[in-house]
Amino acid sequence: MQSLTLKSPAKLNLFLKVLNKRPDGYHNLETIFERIDLCDVVGFRSNRSGRIRIACDHPEVPLGPKNLVYKAFQLLQKEFGIREGVDIKIAKRIPVAAGLAGGSSNAATTLLGLNQIWGLGLPRQKLVELGARLGSDVPFFLYDASWALGTGRGDQIKPLDIRAKLWHIIVVPRRKMYSREVFTALNLELTKNKHDVNILLRSLRKGSLEKAARLLFNDLETSILGICPKLLTVKKRLQACDVPGVAFSGSGPAVYGLVTSQEKARHLQKNLNRFYKQVFTAATL
Ligand code: ATP
Repeated sequence: MQSLTLKSPAKLNLFLKVLNKRPDGYHNLETIFERIDLCDVVGFRSNRSGRIRIACDHPEVPLGPKNLVYKAFQLLQKEFGIREGVDIKIAKRIPVAAGLAGGSSNAATTLLGLNQIWGLGLPRQKLVELGARLGSDVPFFLYDASWALGTGRGDQIKPLDIRAKLWHIIVVPRRKMYSREVFTALNLELTKNKHDVNILLRSLRKGSLEKAARLLFNDLETSILGICPKLLTVKKRLQACDVPGVAFSGSGPAVYGLVTSQEKARHLQKNLNRFYKQVFTAATL
């Protein structure tokens, strides 16, 4: 019986520009992904039942066909005529529906894990093609890269040669937010701005943290705040902590700040824990 345990990391978007709406209903984006060390742990054990059984310690994670892990399993089984089944155990540490892409990361980890325990030998490009069918954020996690530029729906990935290791303080408000509702609320007229991803990339390559922090940008912020204006308080509270840069990650509501050291992140975590239950420190992975 083959078994395997893998980490399934979260991501932050340091830059997210919405370019336009596509005929298929999705939006073309330009985004910088950063992989961070806030991780779920996913355990795999193959079984002979031909079915998938999912166990998870988080009450809001679906255990059936709605779980992206289930969808990844089904896709591989169908595509390659696999008759084996698998037991999957998810230790959930990444907050759900927060803009940190926990579900997408679990799906990518499942493609990687099953490729290994079933001995499929699929190359990365094939996994990426399958991952993109499961969700726009899945392909990023199939690359062994701390940093990447995402275009298309965010599914066209170019790994970036950036050595910067950043520290973050992440506040996850109780309000859940789903990418569909945030994109639906988006007013494209308000996103015609001059933000240039290359300026931020240059700062990150040079390791100029303070400058990079000032260039964080997310086009979805207006619709996130339109849906839940109270989230502005969270952003302001982080900004008031003398954090050089603060932004929403992806479709929110997670708000993060870039900080200069682990000590600073830990110190802020203590302070912010007085107001919010879910406050994390995380570094580039
Ligand atoms: P999105 O921006 O797509 O809404 P997110 O990163 O903000 O994603 P996720 O944690 O991926 O949030 O969860 C989004 C939804 O996906 C939740 O409603 C959750 O029930 C569902 N979901 C399906 N599979 C998983 C999984 N393995 N882990 C977490 N959530 C999952």
